[in-house]
Amino acid sequence: MSDCLFCKIAAGEIPCTEVFSNEKFIAFRDIAPQAPTHILVIPRSHIAGLSDFTDADQVLAGELMTIAVKIAAKEGLVPTGYRFVINNGVDGGQTVSHLHLHILGGRALAWPPG
Ligand code: AMP
Repeated sequence: MSDCLFCKIAAGEIPCTEVFSNEKFIAFRDIAPQAPTHILVIPRSHIAGLSDFTDADQVLAGELMTIAVKIAAKEGLVPTGYRFVINNGVDGGQTVSHLHLHILGGRALAWPPG
């Protein structure tokens, strides 16, 4: 999708602080971090959000999670813990309509969320 911010980041048209990349995913640091470690993991293909997952996305969904787990470990978050967040839709707080998984860690995170 040509006017999608995260498609442009995935294409290298907008700079990011990359922490992981392969043929299907890219991960980069959030521009407005909400925790000492705040990384976004996105599929390179444009999927607007969780609601757009289909059965055909089962492998991609699993890869998204396992890549994020590996990044969290590489960032040193395992001993103290971390949180994954995927906001979906307006009430879910999604502001960028390209599926992304937040990795948050490096401080104690409150629960329940606001
Ligand atoms: P969400 O509110 O779940 O849709 O998350 C969107 C996230 O994208 C927010 O945490 C933003 O800070 C982040 N974000 C927006 N623009 C950029 C950018 N150019 N580079 C990195 N992160 C961004």
